[in-house]
Amino acid sequence: MSDLQNYSMLIDGDWVAASDGGSFESVNPTTGAPWATIPAATAEDVDRAVRAAWYQFSEGPWSKMLPSQRGKLLRKLGDLLADKSEDLGRIETIDTGKMLKETRWQAKYIAEFFHFYAGLADKVTGQTLPIDKPDMMAMTIREPLGVIAAVVPWNSQLFLVAVKLGPALAAGNTVVLKASEHASAAMLEFGRLIEEAGFPPGVVNIVSGLGDPCGRVLTTHPLVARISFTGGPETARHIVRNSAENFAEVSLELGGKSPVVVFEDADLESATNGVMAGIFGASGQSCVAGSRLYLHEKIHDKFLADLSARTSKILIGDPLAEETQMGPLCTLGQLNACETQVARAREQGGTVHNGGKQPAHLNAGWFYEPTIVECPDQKMEIVDSEMFGPVLSVLRFKDEEEVVAKANDTKYGLASGIFTRDIARALRVQKQIRAGIVWINTYRVVSPIAEFGGFKDSGYGRESGAQAIYDYTRPKTVWINTSDAPMGNPFVMR
Ligand code: NAD
Repeated sequence: MSDLQNYSMLIDGDWVAASDGGSFESVNPTTGAPWATIPAATAEDVDRAVRAAWYQFSEGPWSKMLPSQRGKLLRKLGDLLADKSEDLGRIETIDTGKMLKETRWQAKYIAEFFHFYAGLADKVTGQTLPIDKPDMMAMTIREPLGVIAAVVPWNSQLFLVAVKLGPALAAGNTVVLKASEHASAAMLEFGRLIEEAGFPPGVVNIVSGLGDPCGRVLTTHPLVARISFTGGPETARHIVRNSAENFAEVSLELGGKSPVVVFEDADLESATNGVMAGIFGASGQSCVAGSRLYLHEKIHDKFLADLSARTSKILIGDPLAEETQMGPLCTLGQLNACETQVARAREQGGTVHNGGKQPAHLNAGWFYEPTIVECPDQKMEIVDSEMFGPVLSVLRFKDEEEVVAKANDTKYGLASGIFTRDIARALRVQKQIRAGIVWINTYRVVSPIAEFGGFKDSGYGRESGAQAIYDYTRPKTVWINTSDAPMGNPFVMR
């Protein structure tokens, strides 16, 4: 008998295997060995999930629930999540290699996202319009959109679930979540909390499977009203094309190659901490990874030497152990990508100051040493390739004008960081940076209260923040004739 953990999908309130019995194995990146069996949803399974969500949206008990009742359910979900943060964090760590101290903390903090949107559920308002017609009143009523397809990648499963589910459910929509084929377990397990919180069956459905058929069938489904996608730019192109089938609204949270700029007057210790958090947090597998570092020429050599010394001391190992500072990469593909890119950077004139290889004592799992590559040229391939690994490209600059041009010389535009004690300069520079997030003297901070999203190939639409709930609604315009007189002759213009 197999000792693999066996997971099921949540469809219409039932815990089910794939209708054709299909499944795949999820691999623990710390050991490189399979640890769980995950159902591979068929087209029929996805269709069943969408229809269950549509039933609840259009006529089931969910459709009749008051906004304040939805808020109560979301609040309960947040409380349950905080209670179960240890268990869920552990599953996410086994499945993705992300450190337990981060997944546990994240699961607990994510409860705040559900609480935030719980509070907003009964605060979505329309408008009365100062209409330019006599004897006429007009108003807008904000209504939920319908069935939301939420498609996510493997990193930060629970965080991504919260930023999508929170506003979508608070606004009155129903959801079909598609987990990543590389790490589905924590998201499927999260379904237990949906049940326990008391959401009617079918309001939230969780399916697992491959991009095709599972993701494709979901995002082309005629009953889907909005696709909330997080993932890579290539998949995003499929998503946009898929939406031509159902005219679903689309929001895209994609990758990045985010610049971090350190000026000569910065608090250098604080900047070093910010740089390390930006690129080595989650082993660099973060969409906001600060993977391009620009150092002012006056501090370049010393900063690089100090950063390299600190980096060489990072404790890499078992992500379940409390003392570990960096875990493995989630997939073998990521490890291969890092190896290939760093080899090419060497060929193109880059100097590897740290890492650049698998640690010798950890060759069973998918570990890669924290790596710093000094790049003599902004045009090197590594400078504009999202690696999704712990690899930092370092470049030098002379002045503000040069560094702004270099920071913006990328197809991406998700995040950025500026370290300086001169606040006027920080504000001047942030204004010119073409990215959705600018962190000044800090890095990698998120909150339910603050919008999150990118420019250019980093996608469009915003998640988090109060506005997000409105993005999951649309206005219906209602006209009311307030005159007692009957309507006039339609062929006489007045
Ligand atoms: P990916 O694009 O390969 O996959 C994302 C999801 O899309 C998966 O669930 C996958 O099964 C699904 N999918 C694949 N093909 C599909 C299709 N044809 N139709 C519908 N769905 C399909 O992403 P990944 O490699 O798992 O994750 C890494 C990427 O995600 C990186 O680029 C990273 O920067 C990005 N990311 C962005 C954010 C953000 O908020 N901006 C957050 C995390 C990750």
